[in-house]
Amino acid sequence: MNELLSLHQKIAREILKEYQRTHRQLPWRSTKDPYAIWVSEIMLQQTQSNTVIPYYHKWLKAFPTVDTLAHAPIDTVLSIWSGLGYYRRAHNLHHGAREIMTQYNGTVPSAVSQLLKIPGIGRYTAGAIASIAHNQPVPVVDGNVARILSRLFLIETPLDKSATIKQLWSLADSMLIKDNPGDFNQAMMEFGATICKPKQPQCTTCSVAQFCKANQHNKQHLLPIRKSNHSPERPILIQKSVWIYRNKKLLFLHRHNEGLFGGMWELPSAETEQQLTQQTLGLPIKISTDCPITHTQKLSHRLLKLSLTRASLSKGSIQIDPQRYQAFRWQPLDIWASLPLSSGMKHLIKQYLKSMHNDLIE
Ligand code: SF4
Repeated sequence: MNELLSLHQKIAREILKEYQRTHRQLPWRSTKDPYAIWVSEIMLQQTQSNTVIPYYHKWLKAFPTVDTLAHAPIDTVLSIWSGLGYYRRAHNLHHGAREIMTQYNGTVPSAVSQLLKIPGIGRYTAGAIASIAHNQPVPVVDGNVARILSRLFLIETPLDKSATIKQLWSLADSMLIKDNPGDFNQAMMEFGATICKPKQPQCTTCSVAQFCKANQHNKQHLLPIRKSNHSPERPILIQKSVWIYRNKKLLFLHRHNEGLFGGMWELPSAETEQQLTQQTLGLPIKISTDCPITHTQKLSHRLLKLSLTRASLSKGSIQIDPQRYQAFRWQPLDIWASLPLSSGMKHLIKQYLKSMHNDLIE
């Protein structure tokens, strides 16, 4: 047992040394501010570092403290986040900031047990904040770390099994360098992003290749095993949207805060044409026969097929579908982009504007 532990520590020290020698300069690595680290960790979920960097700067400029974030209107928060996707993360940061103001007097807590009570903070993010910002000796396991551990220790059971998850956390704990937990955890993340990569692990130059069981058995490309069975195909979600333009203004609707794209604005949309033309605005909508503009977007578990067509609205007062929307607004066309919109919706509008001729918009 002791031998195993010292082997795990030896591997960990090699990974830390590599990190100290070669790591990339990323903006969240030059701070110990728990708020900034929390923001970066939430942004980095399912998003590459290079994509996150400009959003991270923009966010901290708009909301430099927990206090400023907690007091910002959700529309402003979503505007700053707009384009980064998975908008639930922005809502969680906003809710989390409010929780920290009321429960912890505006200070991000350092204990994992307290961090776990904040909306959107799971075991990984709590470990990252506690170790990086507060130097607490707690491990982290995210997709990167799970991949490294699966390969190093030849774990051939699926990652969605609770026994595998338990094993991974226990291995991460056995490797943790307790006198430098923040740097070690970041070293593991960096190692997963730059060396033990998902598709092209750099085994020939890897500093721990001699210890790696997957490398010894030539199984690195087969690991990790993600799911117990073949995952079913992603279900397809259809969304039909319409371009309704009057007096140089475009009609937008505001989604409820809960659910897909919660709190975002969008052109009037529904899953079926019938729903769209009869229920969405409480007035009949006449869809033009032009070819719609289409766009397909991958969501975490679904494929979203969007289409946009010009339409005209009957006279009368708008009664938005209360199941789906909370408000509507006629927005001047030249400032449409100031609303918080999903990247798919922005893409549709940009494509439409590109293809548009004057006779198409009125
Ligand atoms: S030898 Fe290859 S698979 Fe093993 S840890 Fe290094 S990069 Fe990853």
